[in-house]
Amino acid sequence: MRKRTIENMTVRGRRVLVRVDFNVPIADGAIGDDTRIRAALPTIRTILANGGKAILMSHLGRPKGKPDPAFTLRPVADRLKELLGAPVHFADHATGPTDPASRQAIDVLNEGEVLVLENTRFHPGETKNDPDLAGELAAFAELYVNDAFGTCHRAHASTEGVAHRVKEAGMGLLLDKEIEYLSKLLDSPEPPYVAVLGGAKVSDKIGVIQNLLDQVDALLIGGAMSYTFLKALGHETGASRVEADRLDDAKALYEQAGGKIRLPVDHITASAFDNEAPRRIVSGAIPKGEMGLDIGPETIGEYARAIGEARTIVWNGPMGVFEMSNFAAGTFAVAKALAGATAHGALTVVGGGDSVAAVSQAGYENLVSHVSTGGGAMLEFLEGKILPGIAALSDR
Ligand code: ADP
Ligand code: MG
Repeated sequence: MRKRTIENMTVRGRRVLVRVDFNVPIADGAIGDDTRIRAALPTIRTILANGGKAILMSHLGRPKGKPDPAFTLRPVADRLKELLGAPVHFADHATGPTDPASRQAIDVLNEGEVLVLENTRFHPGETKNDPDLAGELAAFAELYVNDAFGTCHRAHASTEGVAHRVKEAGMGLLLDKEIEYLSKLLDSPEPPYVAVLGGAKVSDKIGVIQNLLDQVDALLIGGAMSYTFLKALGHETGASRVEADRLDDAKALYEQAGGKIRLPVDHITASAFDNEAPRRIVSGAIPKGEMGLDIGPETIGEYARAIGEARTIVWNGPMGVFEMSNFAAGTFAVAKALAGATAHGALTVVGGGDSVAAVSQAGYENLVSHVSTGGGAMLEFLEGKILPGIAALSDR
């Protein structure tokens, strides 16, 4: 089956409803980071260049199903106008994406122009995947395009329901690229294949570990989740963060992995969760009262070596509390090792909100093969789940 993307859909003179991910950080009307707006530009530009009319919709924050001026998309529309250099209108009204003002604004929209609808979550039907809302949205356009990978794991009216109700539906360029790279991690990846997993909780990542276990040659574990594994295997973890209710799961996974799971052999510890607390390098057992806040130098060396020898690497989850500069070394070293592997021709993919922030903080975001825009969506994709927003584009 030929995949349908915005590049092979006929858009000239037609209204194209695009689900984008404009869920950017905003404080007092000021956008903190416009990466997600920039990520949507290729699809928008393709529509405009081919003579289409682009109607954009997105959620922003969690406005609880009713209009809330704190979550208006107006500042996003303003920023988009600056970035795009083409006419960008904002459907100016209070009640949400399907306000009568939206209909009027669509009626007067010209080819080569953009209309940004108000926050989809101003409508209570959005997160409930309400068929009436999906139908109203679908009536806005002839074509529907989903380019919001980060929300594809949610079956909402603007990501799933609407796709079933339009005449034609397809993928935006960002979504297409995400699927292309993430599929490579599941479908015959070139060995050696290494997964690096860290972050806050084992429970978030059990599904991914299970699904990747068969394929990978090694799973390098860091971050707080490593302490749940270490404790489950009978090691002293001191005051480190451990998920007590996941010890059995961690032990079972470790045994199932048959030697593929590698855990830190040393740690940077402190007696308080504080950047200024005195640090210690601890090998093996972590003393009482001390908590592991980063992987240690020996572990960094081992993990960097494994990454350097791999041909395919996926990374999700920081190796330590990288938000504190004194506990960021392990995370930044992994970022550097990925960049090095990329330079030698390996396929490298990074995902997860915090991991992506760490990679760009370290200055490596352009030195890896792919930085995924999806946190939860990427994890579910790697768990082998069918994402409803993607499935809806083909089962119609
Ligand atoms: P991502 O957003 O990349 O998926 P997670 O949200 O799973 O990553 O985890 C990131 C968080 O994990 C960060 O806030 C980081 O401070 C925290 N973390 C990492 N290592 C530790 C640790 N040893 N102790 C406590 N928190 C940790
Ligand atoms: Mg996170």
